[in-house]
Amino acid sequence: MAEQFDVVVIGAGPAGYHAAIRAAQLGLKTACIDAALGKDGKPALGGTCLRVGCIPSKALLDSSRQFWNMGHIFGEHGISFDNAGIDVEKMVGRKDAIVKQFTGGIAMLFKANKVATYYGFGQLQAGNVVTVTQHDGSVVELKGTNVIIAAGSDSIELPFAKFDGKHIVDNVGALDFTETPKRLGVIGAGVIGLELGSVWKRLGSEVTILEAAPNFLAAADAEVAKLAAREFKKQGLDIKLGAKLAKAEVVGDEVVLTYNDANGEQTLTVDKLLVAVGRKAASKGLLGEGCQVKLNERGQIIVDEHCHTGVDGVWAVGDCVRGPMLAHKGFEEGIAVAELIAGLPGHVNFDTIPWVIYTEPELAWVGKTEQQLKDEGIPYKAGSFPFAANGRAVAMVEPAGFVKVLAHAETDRVLGMHLVGANVSELVHEGVLTMEFSGSADDLARICHAHPSLSEVIHDAAMAVSKRAIHKTN
Ligand SMILES: Cc1cc2nc3c(=O)[nH]c(=O)nc-3n(C[C@H](O)[C@H](O)[C@H](O)COP(=O)(O)OP(=O)(O)OC[C@H]3O[C@@H](n4cnc5c(N)ncnc54)[C@H](O)[C@@H]3O)c2cc1C
Repeated sequence: MAEQFDVVVIGAGPAGYHAAIRAAQLGLKTACIDAALGKDGKPALGGTCLRVGCIPSKALLDSSRQFWNMGHIFGEHGISFDNAGIDVEKMVGRKDAIVKQFTGGIAMLFKANKVATYYGFGQLQAGNVVTVTQHDGSVVELKGTNVIIAAGSDSIELPFAKFDGKHIVDNVGALDFTETPKRLGVIGAGVIGLELGSVWKRLGSEVTILEAAPNFLAAADAEVAKLAAREFKKQGLDIKLGAKLAKAEVVGDEVVLTYNDANGEQTLTVDKLLVAVGRKAASKGLLGEGCQVKLNERGQIIVDEHCHTGVDGVWAVGDCVRGPMLAHKGFEEGIAVAELIAGLPGHVNFDTIPWVIYTEPELAWVGKTEQQLKDEGIPYKAGSFPFAANGRAVAMVEPAGFVKVLAHAETDRVLGMHLVGANVSELVHEGVLTMEFSGSADDLARICHAHPSLSEVIHDAAMAVSKRAIHKTN
């Protein structure tokens, strides 16, 4: 006999745990199932994000950045030292401790909110029944008036560069190298490739990134991408565009890559290869026969704008459905669905989801790019301002980058904000907030910003939209 719940959530990643906690807060009897195990072999909640994604990558980015700054920035401050070294195992251990703290934190939140937690693999059957195969092999059945699928995503594996966990790895392996690889190959100059490539470059790897597309970071504003490419090159990241991997062979303790570019077939030998060519919805084994939930051609669960699958009481959120594969997009969908189930007006505004790449400099944006505005025939004005003219940025030895504000030519409503530079992962939220409240560039320009602060770059960029920036000639 299946135990009855108001809400059964499959997956305790960002989308699933937000859905479960919000549903429980709203007084719904909620269960959440997750199959994942941590590095210690014990169940670990929090999904890709907490175990092998957002948080561990940022932990390593921060450690490696401190190390890089010692060699590249400290001297400018007059700081000198002898024999700087990096203990990679200790650095990875710090990352593991952070992961443990946060995955354990989700378990505590579930307990505090009375979310019944099941550790095992869930499969949706007809009639909103979920069978859970637990880690000890036992099977339990849960029935949900509502079921929220939040199964997340897995790395895409290339058939000619299969993961072996040692030489050819995905994000999981690249977050756990026990020493800095002398030569690291990265396939894919997307967010994961750039962030993890940066980590190991800063620690001394010779990093070569092969990117099949001819343009660098096509989703970003073209000027932002251009400046970022220049800065990455200065740091020694070798990014080869239009370079298509044909095969990767492990030979002894090396990986020999064959790829094709405009000059024909090339080879490259590396010690480790990170394949970061994207992620795919995790739907394997998830949908039992007769559950009627449908997948699209990309393997994503088909949902409407409210994350409803079309099957009575069955919803899906996060990386396993359409839309950007971002933790905070999953957070918002999870909360919105829980609220819809409780009869509240849950909603996600896809137009104001921020994007961030945590490299050095950081890249961040919200809303439309200039190219998109041109393609859509929307008249716009642009104002930009460089960090090099900002006192705080220069004092921090962080002069690279700029902020660009795009506003409607007639209404002045902010349509996009594009940032590259120090701490823009935080600053981008001024753009998100302005757009969420339908604000104008003039609104931003009239808001008092603390001096000296990096946020003044946004203030000046907003003023530049109407050619009245104070700290540059317009
Ligand atoms: C290296 C890396 C860095 C990243 N950095 C960022 C970042 O900085 N910012 C950002 O916004 N995003 C980042 N992401 C993306 C982010 O991690 C994902 O968008 C996010 O985790 C998706 O959340 P989710 O809940 O949809 O799925 P997931 O986090 O993938 O969680 C799904 C969970 O469901 C479980 N599960 C799946 N199927 C079943 C089943 N049938 N039964 C039981 N359990 C199941 C899985 O084990 C998993 O725990 C990063 C990703 C990677 C790989």
